[in-house]
Amino acid sequence: MKYPKEVNTYCPVCKAHTVHKAKLASKGKARTMAMGNRKHQRKLMGHGGKRAGEKTVKKQGKRQKIVLECPACKKKTERTIGTRTKKKLEIGATGA
Ligand SMILES: [Zn+2]
Repeated sequence: MKYPKEVNTYCPVCKAHTVHKAKLASKGKARTMAMGNRKHQRKLMGHGGKRAGEKTVKKQGKRQKIVLECPACKKKTERTIGTRTKKKLEIGATGA
């Protein structure tokens, strides 16, 4: 998938359309003490385990995210491009 380097889009801080710079969003470090992580760890404790015959859901591909930066206020907003795909997102290509 291709995405342009610069996009004219709405900035919620400036409340106007400005030419934003697009960058690939990188996944941050997972917080070990986050609520979801603690919940998951609690579920893994004890003798519960997986029920027989139950299959885990395997998601196909990943969501491609970009970070848009406003040149006026330097605020960043995240945007997902399309849905789950195995294709890599390319920035800098002409056209949307
Ligand atoms: Zn702005």
